[in-house]
Amino acid sequence: MASTIHFPFTLHIPSEVMCVSQTLVSHGFESYLVGGCVRDILIGRTPKDWDITTDALPENLTDIFPHSHYDNTYGTVKVVTDSEEMSLNVIEVTTYRTESVYTDNRRPDAVSFSSNVLDDLRRRDFTINALAIPLHRLSVSHETCTEDAVSEYIISRETLIDEFHGIDDLENQIIRTVGNPRERFDEDALRLMRAIRFASQLSFVIDPETLESISLFSKRLETIAVERIQVELNSLLLSDNPSFGIELARRTHLLQYIIPELLEGYGMEQNQAHSFTVYEHLVRTLQCAADKKWPLHLRISAILHDISKPATREWSEVKEDWSFHGHEVLGSKLAKKILRRMKYPIEMVDKVERLVRWHMFFSDTETITLSAVRRLVRNVGEENIQDLLKLRIADRVGMGRPKEEPYRFRKYASMIEEALRSPTSVKMLAIDGSYLINEFHVKPGPIIGNVLNALLERVLENPELNTQEQLSALAQELLMLPSEELKKLALAGKQRIQEEEDLALSTIRSSFHVK
Ligand code: ATP
Ligand code: MG
Repeated sequence: MASTIHFPFTLHIPSEVMCVSQTLVSHGFESYLVGGCVRDILIGRTPKDWDITTDALPENLTDIFPHSHYDNTYGTVKVVTDSEEMSLNVIEVTTYRTESVYTDNRRPDAVSFSSNVLDDLRRRDFTINALAIPLHRLSVSHETCTEDAVSEYIISRETLIDEFHGIDDLENQIIRTVGNPRERFDEDALRLMRAIRFASQLSFVIDPETLESISLFSKRLETIAVERIQVELNSLLLSDNPSFGIELARRTHLLQYIIPELLEGYGMEQNQAHSFTVYEHLVRTLQCAADKKWPLHLRISAILHDISKPATREWSEVKEDWSFHGHEVLGSKLAKKILRRMKYPIEMVDKVERLVRWHMFFSDTETITLSAVRRLVRNVGEENIQDLLKLRIADRVGMGRPKEEPYRFRKYASMIEEALRSPTSVKMLAIDGSYLINEFHVKPGPIIGNVLNALLERVLENPELNTQEQLSALAQELLMLPSEELKKLALAGKQRIQEEEDLALSTIRSSFHVK
């Protein structure tokens, strides 16, 4: 599918970026917008960050930008701006670089700086990432940088530096390496991951020669630090179409070096409840989580929730079907192992482990009791319980079930709400039995319950009364009443509590459309 980029178009450049650029120009240097931001501008997306490349050397940059730091060896100086926006508070300015020898499949042995922007573009990974906009050639009406610096430019196709036909590839929606793909993957194997994550993020196809080379070099991913792989995998998972990205990873054999455990479920038939294989079900569950724009931990839980189905699959002669007994228990351990191997943060590992461990809860065919739901909330953690319900929704959609929230599911969701609320009881009062004993020397016995119930009725009527001072005064009055009268008030209080409870529960249930 092709999509035409309409030239000329109006480019709006944030004043922070313009300031940096104008400072460079006023010192006689070149200044290009480059990389991801140019790509994103051209396809109408908001750039995540604004990168500038220049012929100024790092020492020039730290000289002319007082608020800047240079803490690496590859020419990127971070210029700090006043902006509060994440994408603008640091503008990365990088000296043109050429890279030649790579021995560890990742970092160039030597970074050499260049005075020619084309050298810099040549070292970039994909044609769509190798476009540049020469800011220094755009006419500027302000000599110095001000808040309202000119920030609108008309950009024609000719204005852009497009040495590697990145615009054609953007229009034709193709990921293609700059230069020979084999050489480029040989130089830096992280590009293998980057190719599939860009394909996934942009829904682009990978050029056949580039695709073939990815398969050819897939094993090289083993040489890449797992943290770097994780970053790219997260971008892929967080894209709108991660099922496409995972499938690309499988077809190019990269998946074998990322989460090989997923391949065990490839082509593996399940039982009659499922129309899809284990692998396809996991990918579909992930896609549902993405369609719903759910966060990373839910997407990871989705792709891993049935990870131990292959290991637990057994043929049942009685049912004449496959069973996967205990796959959630084994699966939570395996998910933990995978995520630790990939160096995910502990909180992420813990969340996913719990969600995978308890994801079968709602498919229990037995009627689930409120106390079982309370136990579940304790086990999975109150903070994770809503995510567990979401995982269940995605799981169902991933099975191809038409209804994502059937009656039974809504009933469980409603029970969770019930389990989470604190019931109406005398525990809500600002004073308790021991207060009455200490303060009024009441003897322990039914009278205490009676006073508290009577107080609760008053508080339910008027919540502002629920302070120690006011309740103390009321309690004193109640204690002076004849015991029969106090009993009557207590009974009325109990009835009132029951009514409150009934109302609260029916409100919850009707909000889930269940009885
Ligand atoms: P995103 O919007 O996700 O940040 P991006 O294209 O900006 O995408 P970055 O990782 O921020 O990606 O890298 C910025 C630019 O640096 C890329 O557009 C590309 O030109 C270049 N680049 C990054 N990593 C590599 C690499 N491994 N090999 C070659 N060029 C790279
Ligand atoms: Mg970027």
